[in-house]
Amino acid sequence: MTVDGVRKILEEKAPRQIAWERDNTGLQSGDPGARVRGILVALDPTEAVVAEAVRRKRNLIVTHHPLLFRPLTSVTPRSAAGRCLTALLAHDVALLAAHTNLDFASGGTSFALAEAIGLADVRFLRSAMQVQKKIVTFVPPAAVENVCDAMADAGAGVIGNYDHCFFRTEGTGTFRGNASATPAVGRAGRHERVHEIKIETVVPAWKVPQVIDALRRAHPYEEPAFDILPTDNISTEYGQGVVGTLPRPVGLRLFLRAVKRSLGTGALRYAGDERAVIRRVALCGGSGADLTDDAVAAGADVFVTADITYHAFHAAAGKIALVDAGHFETEFPVVRSLVRMIGAGLRRRDGTIPVHQATTSTNPVLYA
Ligand SMILES: [Zn+2]
Repeated sequence: MTVDGVRKILEEKAPRQIAWERDNTGLQSGDPGARVRGILVALDPTEAVVAEAVRRKRNLIVTHHPLLFRPLTSVTPRSAAGRCLTALLAHDVALLAAHTNLDFASGGTSFALAEAIGLADVRFLRSAMQVQKKIVTFVPPAAVENVCDAMADAGAGVIGNYDHCFFRTEGTGTFRGNASATPAVGRAGRHERVHEIKIETVVPAWKVPQVIDALRRAHPYEEPAFDILPTDNISTEYGQGVVGTLPRPVGLRLFLRAVKRSLGTGALRYAGDERAVIRRVALCGGSGADLTDDAVAAGADVFVTADITYHAFHAAAGKIALVDAGHFETEFPVVRSLVRMIGAGLRRRDGTIPVHQATTSTNPVLYA
């Protein structure tokens, strides 16, 4: 298994194409072709995490936050990023990041937070739109299974927990080949009428080229006809923040105590009516305050996120209880998810590579 192989495992679940366009997710440093001997997973890339990797003989670090985000103008021991990068290169340790692509993926940062807090019926707070295209093609009956299988293998036809989702309708196709044509059915220069099946399916936008390529290879026609259509479908796979329900409604005070316990933090900042009963909970790991209106619209009694400004607390008054549980604290649960995600992918390919969570804490914020 190479470093790039691990990147592919991560991006199967959290495709880079769904990341924020100004993000820098994926390989941060190192040789993508290097053979991986062991993996250490942390929330942040720091010098201490690199030292732990070296000590534990791991030559790949996977973090949620990227090391290279804003352009570096120099690599010197004067900056934290410079020291970390120098240590990575000196010890031949590669660094991969899964950042906003992991935030926006089902099972990603906010889902991990929901699991830590014990929510049920978890779904996206703001689903991604226009990530799906529809592909329509026309196939002779004898080739339908082949074409559908090839398109499904290339990533078409996945809806939630279902794959191989296609719709088929029968019809008649007509064509006339010119003198240079070599038609699979009929003869060039003649009006042909053939029995065909129209196949419709959905595909993530970034998989369209590979699905069309598979379609062309499996289709018996010299010039298969197909349409690629935009959709306004609401994605079940990609979005921002989550909303779910508590197993039992509790008062706000009790809820805050449970959040502190689940996230292992001694302090929270919050605003809200102490008498409020909390049942429906919206969450966003990291800086998610811009989703507050979505949390209100989803009927949530409370919204837990991080980096909430003073004015955002004011704006939420009378609408929803707002809780700032810390950037590190609300994102840390995803480290365990990353270990599980990579572990599951490795087991299918190369089960001998150790993958563990770093024991070094990377939270720079202390509470007095
Ligand atoms: Zn973050």
